[in-house]
Amino acid sequence: MANLLIIGAGGVGSVVAHKCAQAAKYEQAFSHITLASRTRAKCDAIAQSVKKRLDADLSTAQVDADNVPELCALLRDLKPDLVCNVALPYQDLHIMDACLECGVHYVDTANYEPLDTAKFEYKWQWAYGERFREAGLTALLGSGFDPGVTNVYAAWALKHQLDEVQVLDIIDCNAGDHGQPFATNFNPEINIREVTARGRYWERGEWVETDPLSWSMTYDFPDGIGPKKCYLMYHEELESLVRNLKGIRRARFWMTFSDNYLNHLKVLGNVGMTRIDPVKFQGQDIVPIQFLAKLLPDPASLGPLTKGKTCIGDVLRGVKGGKEKTVYIYNICDHEACYAEVGSQAISYTTGVPAMIGAKMVASGLWRKPGVWNMEQMDPDPFMEDLNRYGLPWQCVEVR
Ligand code: NDP
Repeated sequence: MANLLIIGAGGVGSVVAHKCAQAAKYEQAFSHITLASRTRAKCDAIAQSVKKRLDADLSTAQVDADNVPELCALLRDLKPDLVCNVALPYQDLHIMDACLECGVHYVDTANYEPLDTAKFEYKWQWAYGERFREAGLTALLGSGFDPGVTNVYAAWALKHQLDEVQVLDIIDCNAGDHGQPFATNFNPEINIREVTARGRYWERGEWVETDPLSWSMTYDFPDGIGPKKCYLMYHEELESLVRNLKGIRRARFWMTFSDNYLNHLKVLGNVGMTRIDPVKFQGQDIVPIQFLAKLLPDPASLGPLTKGKTCIGDVLRGVKGGKEKTVYIYNICDHEACYAEVGSQAISYTTGVPAMIGAKMVASGLWRKPGVWNMEQMDPDPFMEDLNRYGLPWQCVEVR
């Protein structure tokens, strides 16, 4: 049984806390759980909700995860076996540094990002491989849904369905509606940085760039969701998957957006509000996207408002026994059911459940191996079983 520290008490952190408390209560997966963040009051509110829903106790703490000495003092005090980092991508390297210094395993859901450039690259975190190996510590990168479950689906398909994967399309559909004029369903700054970046996909051994959201297709989603327009984007899991999937020739990532969301984004972009570089305003440096993020609804507040479903999955075309075969592996998640269970909408839920499962895999030793790893480099089977057990059941259908 592992002592767990969760860092970050936003929309995703709340789900991770609830699901870890479930795993501790029903499977004794964790002996003790502490939730720490910059604002302790948010941790306390989540701990109260966990108490009310599960009659389980969480400890809480305040920490600035950008301050490595402060973080190390907390790690030495709590002595966790494992940190689950669901703060923001800017904190990743600081938390990895503190984990190395204090001998603690590490799990996150988003690649490290410098504040002033949007890169979506693993190079900074992969550079920690040697140090984690030498320290005998495991760092598991990208244990959310996408990245995360989408990587595990690919590894599972390669293990059970296909001899090699040649074409991968990851398709992320949020068919939910929160009724707000404009809101993002996870951290606004990170979401808008991602969506406004140039598109990129992998084709025959090289990256091909596209203008932001300039390519689209219509995909007919299952379970009554129906046809939706999906836009090609770059997404970080493509970087590791094209390295690790045997035989891959083309890999793309698609996401649905409503016309309303895109119109707002276009106007905000046109007037400079999505810029990530500092601008002088009344003698002070302000970063427009950070100011915009302050004005937008907190994604954690969308839980009671959001109705509808998400459908995120992988379409994998490859070869089995010398014949061409295509499979579609996907999960359907209902916003209102998530809210009823843990008080959050489905985007936080679909990220928080796999973050808990990744932490559980490392805590149990099933996925513990020294070094820095992406999700598809681990045995997918126990993770896929836990997805079914912890609220993200999946389907695998052959596409003909
Ligand atoms: P939120 O903005 O809702 O929450 C972020 C939390 O991190 C807040 O509690 C914030 O504290 C805390 N935080 C920020 N800076 C620090 C710091 N220096 N020290 C300590 N705590 C800090 O974000 P979300 O919950 O929406 O997203 C969390 C993470 O999940 C992000 O990295 C996001 O990219 C990732 N994500 C991954 C997905 C996937 O499928 N892989 C999908 C969706 C999100 P405070 O409240 O004080 O600001």
